[in-house]
Amino acid sequence: MIDATHDPELRSWVASANDAQTDFPIQNLPFGSFRRRGTEEPHRIGVAIGDQVLDLRLASECAAWPEDVARALAPLAAGDLNAFMAMGQKTRADLRRALSAALAEGSTQQRTLRECLVPQADAVMALPCRIGDYTDFYISVHHATTIGKQFRPDNPLLPNYKWVPIGYHGRASSIQPSGQAFHRPMGQIKTPDTDAPELGPSGRLDYELEMGIIVAASNSQGQPVPIGHAEEHVFGLTLFNDWSARDIQGWEYQPLGPFLSKNFASTLSPWIVTMEALAPFRCAFSRPEGDPQPLPYLDSRENREAGAIDVQLEVWIQTEAMRHAGHAGDLLSMSNLADAYWNVAQLVAHHTVNGCNLNPGDLLGTGTLSGPKPEQAASLMELTANGKQPLKLSNGEERRFLNDGDSIILRGYCQRAGQRRIGFGECRGTVLPARDSHFV
Ligand code: MN
Repeated sequence: MIDATHDPELRSWVASANDAQTDFPIQNLPFGSFRRRGTEEPHRIGVAIGDQVLDLRLASECAAWPEDVARALAPLAAGDLNAFMAMGQKTRADLRRALSAALAEGSTQQRTLRECLVPQADAVMALPCRIGDYTDFYISVHHATTIGKQFRPDNPLLPNYKWVPIGYHGRASSIQPSGQAFHRPMGQIKTPDTDAPELGPSGRLDYELEMGIIVAASNSQGQPVPIGHAEEHVFGLTLFNDWSARDIQGWEYQPLGPFLSKNFASTLSPWIVTMEALAPFRCAFSRPEGDPQPLPYLDSRENREAGAIDVQLEVWIQTEAMRHAGHAGDLLSMSNLADAYWNVAQLVAHHTVNGCNLNPGDLLGTGTLSGPKPEQAASLMELTANGKQPLKLSNGEERRFLNDGDSIILRGYCQRAGQRRIGFGECRGTVLPARDSHFV
């Protein structure tokens, strides 16, 4: 999977792509959906390069491409990333090589493609693709253990955890792109000292640092995807914030799991970093000594050798007061996707083992990606011990859960000696006050 497109020495004629700090060097080439700021034009598919977007509609129309590349560009030029994702892994890898060559220093296409760049500052990003279905998993054993302890101190992990990748079906309609805001949800809340629930705004609003796995190719209903082919069905990864109302969740979640505590809003980062771009950052997947090995349908030699992906993750908070003071925000925690108990191929193999069909654009959330150390917790529920120990912020404010006006910013990047660092951009969402006519 490693080829000339990953060469750390490769440079682009787009100068900002050669900046050591950029998330989008020529080795990355993630896909997103955008329109020019201030226009109502249909969304276009673009590839991020440095601080620019290569407009693939313009690139398809203006530059000369070999026939197979032109075929791959056709759905992208039409604004349909889902159709491109469905064309399969070989098409994806071929287009990556063509775009890499075209954007590399010395390319003969430089003069034409220069006219197809849009500054990211002038682009408004949408969701990168149409999301059909959304499933949320629970793959951090550290998150599952910390949350479990709050309910069952002596027996935090349920007996199925180390055998089944736990998940539930979420709702796709309320997933929004980075940069948007949402209203604090209303819901039924019952506190331990009241006899009956009341309708009110959530007082325990939280974030969840997750990654989103974007499905590329479908499988037919009734046709499981074997683990050895699972990643052929994955287009790439994004950052994902699964906003959660802990008070609504606590009252509603038994016996069927989360419902209105989760489906009022989720935020997705705008750029899908492809599995091809992530190839240099693979790492071994293993189970701690004494834990059960995954069942054979969730296990393979390849998966043990390179099933995990080293993605460093960060959560930042910028409160309203910080925003007014021009303060960029505080880092709340850092963790890594590679510390999860299950990996991408296992989630696809498990999701389809019963014959469930996945479609291009389906989103699989990883679940809250907390690391092994307490300071690597990826939600406030963990960082504040369910609101009991407030966090002190650098400007003197305190948080147990989120306040109105708070923005949460997720960041992610891959870096490794001998490789060019690549990043995911940011996933930013902001809490607005509750809005409800029932509540006074
Ligand atoms: Mn979640």
